[in-house]
Amino acid sequence: MTNIAYVNGDYEKIENAKVSIMDRGLLFADGVYEVAGVYNGVIIDNESHILRLQRSLNEIKLTLPIQLDELLLVQKKLIEINKLKEGTLYFHVTRGIGQTREFEFPEGPSPSLIMFVHHKQIMDLPIDRLNAKIMTLPDLRWKRRDIKSIALLPQVLAKQVAHENNCNEVWMYEDGFITEGGSSNAFIIKDNKLISRKNNEKILSGTTRQAVLKLLELEGLIFDERPFTIEEAYNADEAFFTSASVFVMPVISIDDRAINDGMPGKLTLKLRNLYENFAKSSIKKEK
Ligand code: PMP
Repeated sequence: MTNIAYVNGDYEKIENAKVSIMDRGLLFADGVYEVAGVYNGVIIDNESHILRLQRSLNEIKLTLPIQLDELLLVQKKLIEINKLKEGTLYFHVTRGIGQTREFEFPEGPSPSLIMFVHHKQIMDLPIDRLNAKIMTLPDLRWKRRDIKSIALLPQVLAKQVAHENNCNEVWMYEDGFITEGGSSNAFIIKDNKLISRKNNEKILSGTTRQAVLKLLELEGLIFDERPFTIEEAYNADEAFFTSASVFVMPVISIDDRAINDGMPGKLTLKLRNLYENFAKSSIKKEK
């Protein structure tokens, strides 16, 4: 299968696509990124991803190296060239190349934009793939988690520990409360209430979270927006996490304690279904 990446204006085979060793993304993780789901060759909820990218860029005093309409064209072209029907689109912007390894911004902005795709099934997953196991670990990240920074070492290390313990995702905690997943937002359901902490600098404002919460309103379900403890998570009726690539993923155990008798929860599956319908209808509007 062809795999072509976009690197600052050029389309190149992924194995040949390169950035400079002086790119500040490489040296300082000085950049921000997005991952969006793609279905039927169309980006799901692209507007939310673009808005969040612009916000992240703004927070780190960086601007897009190309006009927004051009960025949208690059996204489309890359999906077409790669014949991507279903999977994810990754794109990031770094502060580009500095002459030397100085911490301060280089003179004159020359941000770097790269983009690539990943083919994988994200929609209509069989039930036997909707059963995530969670491990909890301390949240070792910086204090501006609302910025979608490419500095992901704490998550890389935590997700590796989870993986070595046969878990699919890590839920990070701080002061006894769950913050969020390694690459997702965390939710529990107790007595028909959906519980998840509010957006602030402690977590990333998830695009999937935002869409799910709107769907919840439509369904008339109650949302209790507050942090929850690890103990509450162990005792939840249901639990799940959300992201643009896993949508709504049911959790069947947390630190080896079964949730909902080790089965995906009913309400969780309903929310997943609602989100899949939202994703399908959002791409129809785009087409
Ligand atoms: N939190 C973190 C730390 C993440 O990395 C992600 C994935 N980008 C999310 C939450 C979920 O965000 P989204 O729903 O936009 O993928």
